[in-house]
Amino acid sequence: MYTVREAHEGLSKKEFSCHELVQECFDQIDRVDKTIHAFLAYTKEQAFTRAARIDEKISKGHVLGLLEGIPIAIKDNILISGVQATAASRILKNYVASYNATVIEKLEKEGAIFLGKTNLDEFAMGSSTENSAYGPTKNPWDTNRVPGGSSGGSAAAVATDECIASLGSDTGGSIRQPAALCGVTGLKPTYGAVSRYGLIALASSFDQIGPFGKTVEDVTIVFDAIKGADPHDSSSGRASADSVLPHLSRGVKGMKIGIPREYFIEGIDADIQKCVDDAVMEYQRLGAEIISVSLPHTSYALATYYVIMPAEASSNLARFDGMRYGHTAQDTRSLIETYVRSRSEGFGAEAKRRIMLGTYVLAAGYYDAYYKQAQKVRALMTRDFREAFLQVDCILTPTSPVAPFVFGEKIDDPLQMYLADIFTVSANIAGIPGMSVPCGFVMRDGKELPVGMQLLGKHFDEATILATGHAYQQTTDWHTRRPSLTSL
Ligand code: GLN
Repeated sequence: MYTVREAHEGLSKKEFSCHELVQECFDQIDRVDKTIHAFLAYTKEQAFTRAARIDEKISKGHVLGLLEGIPIAIKDNILISGVQATAASRILKNYVASYNATVIEKLEKEGAIFLGKTNLDEFAMGSSTENSAYGPTKNPWDTNRVPGGSSGGSAAAVATDECIASLGSDTGGSIRQPAALCGVTGLKPTYGAVSRYGLIALASSFDQIGPFGKTVEDVTIVFDAIKGADPHDSSSGRASADSVLPHLSRGVKGMKIGIPREYFIEGIDADIQKCVDDAVMEYQRLGAEIISVSLPHTSYALATYYVIMPAEASSNLARFDGMRYGHTAQDTRSLIETYVRSRSEGFGAEAKRRIMLGTYVLAAGYYDAYYKQAQKVRALMTRDFREAFLQVDCILTPTSPVAPFVFGEKIDDPLQMYLADIFTVSANIAGIPGMSVPCGFVMRDGKELPVGMQLLGKHFDEATILATGHAYQQTTDWHTRRPSLTSL
């Protein structure tokens, strides 16, 4: 099916109506989603009502904006007024959002059409969607394998043409890693570039909402629409209001691309390494200068992330107490029993693990040893990037050290699961933007599985990584390949 650009042109030239476009997405959902399970809920009625309105505007000669009439899927931790928002948790099973997230308001203003809510790891904790209380999403390239996570549903929905673009959230890699594992493009913007208002918080100093698309261009179009200051989120604001799209084709001639020495670790899949090396060569061919850089504190990234993230998560999840939102335990005899049982029944294993970890590192006796130390290392890691960006315009790494793994392979070993984020968490620690772009395939069990490379940029310089990714997609075709869904 279409990219945002192609759908926009089709609608503008009246090759198909908006109703037909939305119908095509729901037909594809009917065909594949019983198996893929990218969606947790559909907003069909709302989608067709909007489509009718847009078709009417088209018939009156209205000139369409780029996102007008474009079907988009939304991760189920982002609020759409009147629609469920479960964050894939049992504790929010019956929760219906009472207001719109700022990104939803912005996309609505652009005329985008929402198809439904996509699956995720519970409260966005995980790298495989296996932590969803409603069952995992399957990888469209091999349904025995995970789509990555936590935004696995949003990535799979784009890869399967169930939608044209989607929104996810990224706290430690949850947009980039599933984008890599599903063969689509995904952008985590700079911390503060996009409002978090209406995103169910995981770790507030890391969380960012960002787009998935089939191309860098599509991701840019959605990013342009959702970014900008928001009075509802005091950490948002410094992003320039100017559109990035006009700068997308500036090319990479003379650009300096950094390759961090510390990212070529033992344990990285050799076939993935080869794909990334080939991408580096392609950039050389396109006229970029490749420079080796050092990010000396990289080896502390996971430890730092898995101290600060649970600390913030445990605070954020304290609000789910059985009183205000979602699940309340029945037949309790005391207030404390209501708290304990509502939370015990409502949260899954990973949420409980992180609440315990977070409470532990914040406890009076351990705060200095863990949380405070981690914050110091966070400052050092941020400085590493600042210094590297004095030498280079952007940094290229693999997105994931491993190809999509088989269901169950890592779920009982949290440390193995956390290792999936080894290349992505640093961007959230430092607050810089990062994007995953398809850069090849590996063969496993006779199936082709996608590989992604990660481009990291300076704070609020999404334009450079987007232009760098776009240049690559002009001379390669990895991003145009789609999984064969005929056996579903
Ligand atoms: N996989 C990482 C985690 O479990 C990142 C999650 C995310 O980015 N939301 O925390």
